[in-house]
Amino acid sequence: MADVTYYCPRCETLATVERDAYLADKSVTPYPLEGWSYDPPSALPHADADGVRFVCGESDGVDWSEDGCGEPFYLNFVRHDEGREIDSEPASEYVELNVRPSEPRGPQGPGGPTP
Ligand SMILES: [Zn+2]
Repeated sequence: MADVTYYCPRCETLATVERDAYLADKSVTPYPLEGWSYDPPSALPHADADGVRFVCGESDGVDWSEDGCGEPFYLNFVRHDEGREIDSEPASEYVELNVRPSEPRGPQGPGGPTP
């Protein structure tokens, strides 16, 4: 867990929340993204939603640097799997060359020097 800070996109009041570090941030927006679900900051650090809806200066579970503007803003996490195209890497076909190890050069063939 870590303290993470966000700026209100409207008034730049600093919001500090504690949350799981594994969640990756996509963006902070003054409006919700369509089709996304949002939890209040008090649901952190284990929010199930796609993001968090802050009310600037008012939301619980947040350290506000100032009183804020009282307007909502939205933190959007990077969503995994659902509704997201995963770039599939084509399996690279490579021809395995059938390289034989060069035959070891032994001593000259059979038959030693004969008198
Ligand atoms: Zn604000």
